[in-house]
Amino acid sequence: MELGGLHHVTAVTTHAAENVAFYTDVLGMRLVKKTVNQDDVSAYHLFYGDELGRPGTEVTFFDWPHLRIAPNHAGTGEISTTELRVSGRETLDWWAGRFAEHGVRHGGVEERDGRYFIDFLDPEGQRLRLADEGEAPRVAGGIPWEEGPVPGEFDIRGLGAVDLTVSDLAPTAWVLAEVLGFRLVGEHEEGGDRVALFEVGPGGPGATVRVIESPDAPQAHLGRGGVHHVAFRTPDGEEQRLWREKLREAGLGVTPQIDRYYFRSIYFREPGGILFEIATDGPGFATDEDAAHLGERLSLPPFLEGRREEIEARLKPIPVAGGTSRR
Ligand code: ZN
Repeated sequence: MELGGLHHVTAVTTHAAENVAFYTDVLGMRLVKKTVNQDDVSAYHLFYGDELGRPGTEVTFFDWPHLRIAPNHAGTGEISTTELRVSGRETLDWWAGRFAEHGVRHGGVEERDGRYFIDFLDPEGQRLRLADEGEAPRVAGGIPWEEGPVPGEFDIRGLGAVDLTVSDLAPTAWVLAEVLGFRLVGEHEEGGDRVALFEVGPGGPGATVRVIESPDAPQAHLGRGGVHHVAFRTPDGEEQRLWREKLREAGLGVTPQIDRYYFRSIYFREPGGILFEIATDGPGFATDEDAAHLGERLSLPPFLEGRREEIEARLKPIPVAGGTSRR
């Protein structure tokens, strides 16, 4: 039993319309699902990904406008950067130009461990990175949506890695290696912090977690532009059940298996304070919408469909932006 890599990252926006415009029109991802947070139906839950929002390509957002005055406080116990994969060193130069053109805050093209990357921020300060996935990545990238605004060769192909910042490396490393089956593949120092590189399943881009030990940093506080949790891939509900048992045996508090309709989920907090999820690969986003029209209307799981009118009345409509307006 092995985790297949990263499934999705879920972050916090306070401005759904601006969020949709950035992730679709600027980054060229497809809005594959517009639904509500099942635990708080007054909030949008927006899913971006490849043409179908395949597992491993998804970045999702809870829209929490009440946090507009509460920016994320960076520190320990948080997912500090989300890395997205692109193909080729030259692609990063193209993106640097695109970022400049769209007023996106970004750094230069840099190299680390033989891989090129560029750091950037979304309009709410979400810390993101584009990284060259290199030749023949072991986790297959997604298939970008053809109708998006970014030329195919430069498209984002999914999640590359996540950076976790913790105050003490050991407990988080223990969960990754001893419980979740990650392999420690490298360790180095970066600006005075110890960084440990872990891979799972096939390894490489799409299956990498970087743990940054920053003992003197303050504890992070989740707010606008922060990340809520990261999910790892498991093929089906049966393996997920076994993971749940394994987590319980390791003494970690874990939720029951929850049917999120597009996948099933279990959640637990690792000892460094970061919320982890294990999510099933299926059934996916084309279960309740035609693949050609994903994300165009508000999708509700069957158990919420009866409350559609009430739920829609409480949501502020999202103006349909360029990248998603083609009919
Ligand atoms: Zn999730």
